[in-house]
Amino acid sequence: MTQTISPQTVEFASAIEKDKSHVWHHLSQHSVYEKQDPMMIVKGEGSRVWDAKGNSYLDATAGGVWCVNVGYGRTEIAEAVSRQLVELNFFAGTAATAPGAELAHKLIEKMPGMSRVYYASSGSEANEKAFKIVRQIAHKKYGGKKHKILYRERDYHGSTIAALSATGQEERRDQYGPFVPGFAEFGHCCEYRSQFGEVENYGYLAAQELEKAILREGADTVGAVVLETITAGGGVITPPEGYWQEIQAICKKYQVLLHIDEVVCGLGRTGKWFGYQHYGIQPDIVTLAKGVASSYAAISCTVTTEAVFQEFMDEPSERANYFRDISTFGGCTAGPAAALENIRILEQENLIENSATMGEYLLTLLREQQLDSRIIGDVRGKGLLIGIELVKDKVSKEPVEESIAMQVAGLCMKKGLMIGRTNRSFGRYNNTLCLCPMLTLTKDEADFIAVTLVDAINEVAAQLS
Ligand code: PMP
Repeated sequence: MTQTISPQTVEFASAIEKDKSHVWHHLSQHSVYEKQDPMMIVKGEGSRVWDAKGNSYLDATAGGVWCVNVGYGRTEIAEAVSRQLVELNFFAGTAATAPGAELAHKLIEKMPGMSRVYYASSGSEANEKAFKIVRQIAHKKYGGKKHKILYRERDYHGSTIAALSATGQEERRDQYGPFVPGFAEFGHCCEYRSQFGEVENYGYLAAQELEKAILREGADTVGAVVLETITAGGGVITPPEGYWQEIQAICKKYQVLLHIDEVVCGLGRTGKWFGYQHYGIQPDIVTLAKGVASSYAAISCTVTTEAVFQEFMDEPSERANYFRDISTFGGCTAGPAAALENIRILEQENLIENSATMGEYLLTLLREQQLDSRIIGDVRGKGLLIGIELVKDKVSKEPVEESIAMQVAGLCMKKGLMIGRTNRSFGRYNNTLCLCPMLTLTKDEADFIAVTLVDAINEVAAQLS
């Protein structure tokens, strides 16, 4: 049920008019706003947000796009950023700054086997840096040949043209081609949607999709593979058993660098500091963004092993042999200052453990309800990253229409709960509801999420013939 604070509709009316006149919203068809106002969020506290009409919602989307991990209204972070901005707000990433150094040290402590941190300000950029690192290594070591980057169907790596070129979601790519050459796709690892029928060794078979792609493209042309640890926006696809170990073995066999995109999974979202740490693997490159500073400031990191970094160590020479990359805002100190405080909170409040425990609790609640539900086909996830796939029929697994997932999300909003769902259009992917609540989630909040969501699903299911 929605809660109401003081009605502020009037106060924000002028801002909404200005928004409607001049703001171009992300991922939005604006003709909708000719008939209705966009939702305007005006306040956040803990795990709740308030809209301009005074309605309050439990935000199980961590800010709409899975990033406000420690919750809203953290004055400690605001104060740490404020202190740092007064001291030194910026200096280009060509120089050292104290917060940048401290954060890199802190991150590497938590990522055994990794060594260097390269700063920028978005997940897409972090991935772009990784692609450039791979390409430059190809030129330095392999005469430019081993430059291709393989990516997986249903993964997302960002909004820039190169990141989209590495993205396996047609609904994101449609109408943005032609794409950057040198990227090639291989098959997904969603066991619920197995491309091999019902098999015992799905994880092994799905990983073979990578080997097949390496052989198809030519092992001497493939420099790296980029994968999300758990495919997030593509439908919360948890890797099947044995999958990651086999992926790592294939990378080693063909000397292909393993780039893991932890833009969503990093910093506790899956119940470990980094999602890949569930699987006993060692990546060569890890990219981070959303949870690094819980989005109190824009910061992303491209983290590499010492071996990758050493490829760029040469005597200074006329030849531009170093990593010739720069992003202006990678020199902002607000990001590292916010991130250090964010990590302190994660540690002090045991939020990584909470993510693991509450994630299990929520998964169990939802799986119990799945048994009685006509349309909950699959419930999957790790930590506080959970997907609920809706189907017309549990046997045929035919996905529900997009409008059904929209109705469920809309009903949840009416009941005071914000949930996410996979991208619009292109029928195959729009039937998964996503839960990505704050890592501070309490048992009461988890109960509220499960009860509200299942009620909404049942109400919508009851209307289906
Ligand atoms: N990688 C993944 C896995 C993501 O989910 C996202 C953002 N949704 C990105 C990369 C891109 O991050 P950004 O939007 O900050 O560029």
